[in-house]
Amino acid sequence: MGIKVAKFGGSSVADAIQLTKTKEIIEADKERRYVVVSAPGKRYTEDNKITDLLYLCKTHIDHNLPYEQVFQVICDRYMAMVINLGINLDLMVEFDEIKKNLQEGASADYIASRGEYLNAKITASVLGYDFVDTADFVLFDEKGRFLAEETNRVLGEELKKHERAVLPGFYGSYPNGKIKTFSRGGSDITGAIVARAVKADVYENWTDVSGFLMADPRIVSNPKPISKISYKELRELSYMGASVLHEDAIYPARIENIPINIRNTNIPTDPGTMINAEVTVEKDRIITGIAGSKDFTVIAIYKNMMSQEIGFIRRISGILEDYDIAIEHLPSGIDTVSVVIANKNLDGRLGEVLDDLKKKLNPDSLDVFEDMALIATVGAGMSRRPGVSAKLFTALAEAGVNIRMIDQGSSEMNIIIGVENKDFNTSIKAIYNAFIS
Ligand code: ASP
Repeated sequence: MGIKVAKFGGSSVADAIQLTKTKEIIEADKERRYVVVSAPGKRYTEDNKITDLLYLCKTHIDHNLPYEQVFQVICDRYMAMVINLGINLDLMVEFDEIKKNLQEGASADYIASRGEYLNAKITASVLGYDFVDTADFVLFDEKGRFLAEETNRVLGEELKKHERAVLPGFYGSYPNGKIKTFSRGGSDITGAIVARAVKADVYENWTDVSGFLMADPRIVSNPKPISKISYKELRELSYMGASVLHEDAIYPARIENIPINIRNTNIPTDPGTMINAEVTVEKDRIITGIAGSKDFTVIAIYKNMMSQEIGFIRRISGILEDYDIAIEHLPSGIDTVSVVIANKNLDGRLGEVLDDLKKKLNPDSLDVFEDMALIATVGAGMSRRPGVSAKLFTALAEAGVNIRMIDQGSSEMNIIIGVENKDFNTSIKAIYNAFIS
């Protein structure tokens, strides 16, 4: 029998109704032997995620404010799930223990992790699966760096002892046993780690959408779904802001070549998006997706004979490194180089950075363009196909968009353009319409 690891996101396990759908999905396929769950998410738009409420408890405690009312809301949601699912599980002991730890100054990571912990207990009980606490098998070092290989070994050993198990997502522990969480949305990472540890045939990531779309539906109406995408293409797109899957979830699956299948808990018949190492590109598929992000700053540095000045680029990156600022792109000409930085990383320090660049590089001129947006058009089908950029640039010209920057990776898998923030939506629509009929 094959092995499928199924991870269910917050909306798939938000209440008893959703958990019942989740149970039906798991029971429909005997290969779904390992299940990873998030904490209960929102049941409706104005609802709160349990994880947010847990962080809120911690904030109240840190500010010497009463937290009991918020904590009670959390307990009530779990109790309602237990009652509505008709399972026999005593959560009172758990609540008391969490409350005691909270009063004794437990960390924010600990309190946040309890959302997944309690939900995994409930899911295990609903399914009759074993409960395996990731705190004991997802390992971090003292500095909070994830220990991928050690985790893979100990988790793999442990899961051999369990024919079927439910594991809480989002967290693991430091060497001293204290809880450490991944970044927000991190249950996706746990799912991929479990898939790698059991050498799963597929890692199913169940959420509330039927996979990735070729463009943001808030910009393009009814964009086509992406049925197949490679890890590499996804990386290019997720880097620009696609938010269905945590980007760190790709790596563990990729090592073992495990396909990731994004599925919709509310429409389980939809095949969703399949993410694979290599995707055989259909003849007529030129692009796979378009994604972008606003709010970048471009610093264009001009200096006569720059190309002859050894170490010039190293000095630019050294200056930015001193500010702990990542360089997003670095398109260059013979005597010019443009540094593209996300505004959130500049964090109001543009003036200081410019002063330093002037002082240390002595450029002939420094021009700054704020309010830039970057748009990545991605597709393995673009490679070695003449006319792709011509089509893209013509579409933008016809839409009246002035392109401020162009960057094409040598893999020919993506074309990144920089436009003004105000042209962001128009550009995405124009590119989409040019390639997708
Ligand atoms: N519950 C956590 C969060 O809200 C982790 C997750 O859902 O993946 O970020």
